[in-house]
Amino acid sequence: MAGITIEKIEKTFGATSVLREVSLNIADGEFLTLLGPSGCGKSTLLRILAGLEVQTAGSVAIGERVVDGVRPKRRDVAMVFQSYALYPHMTVAENMGLPLRMRRLSSLQRLPLVGQLLPGTKATAAEMELDVMRTAKALGIGHLLGRKPGQLSGGQRQRVAVGRAMVRQPAVFLMDEPLSNLDAKLRVQMRAEIKELHQRLGVTFVYVTHDQSEAMTMSDRVAVMLDGELLQVAPPQGIYADPDDRRVAEFIGSPK
Ligand code: ADP
Ligand code: MG
Repeated sequence: MAGITIEKIEKTFGATSVLREVSLNIADGEFLTLLGPSGCGKSTLLRILAGLEVQTAGSVAIGERVVDGVRPKRRDVAMVFQSYALYPHMTVAENMGLPLRMRRLSSLQRLPLVGQLLPGTKATAAEMELDVMRTAKALGIGHLLGRKPGQLSGGQRQRVAVGRAMVRQPAVFLMDEPLSNLDAKLRVQMRAEIKELHQRLGVTFVYVTHDQSEAMTMSDRVAVMLDGELLQVAPPQGIYADPDDRRVAEFIGSPK
């Protein structure tokens, strides 16, 4: 388990400043949502946490460990992308098992994240298969393991992407607008499922969305981002009832 400490993160692309002095402490086990309009820098910040993007200045710690310069696979995080990022030529089982296979193949054989499902340091192929099967069943996609992503609905693909993150048993889940490609009804249903997953696993979630009602219904705290800056971090009710700033009030549409 791990909280996250983000300290004065800056990011520029060429001459464009995309993140400005972003500092934020996320508690171990918290569901924190980065909420803001398209282009405000949410994905960039999440990608910096994942190690997929390098900050221009500032520092990130996951748990006790400063992870600046640490490669994505060596961070105790798993990311779920808006596009799901599944391999079309692989089955559901193969897509979900990929992080485990890669870890098994890595010459170091260090398995720091492995918890109750994979005891010991070396997972056998059978154990990995069992792990994938259990996870798939828990997500209601146990019957789809032999299919390819092209043969799945949007909601099923989304579950596969969540399942692939789950089998890694990360201390931190990073989710970048994971529901935005789903239709409205499914989106609402999946919110509840992700919340349930958070409660069941008890690990830290950093969730990105531009959708206020998603942020308000799912989060322990919401961090409102506008134009590369974090303007307010508070529980949903606090953001709505007591916005710090006119820009937050305007974005949220609250009375102030
Ligand atoms: P959000 O996820 O909130 O929509 P992003 O983090 O994707 O915002 O983007 C923030 C800003 O950074 C945007 O103006 C975007 O065009 C710019 N940006 C993101 N990635 C790159 C990149 N690789 N090169 C140049 N500009 C980028
Ligand atoms: Mg984005």
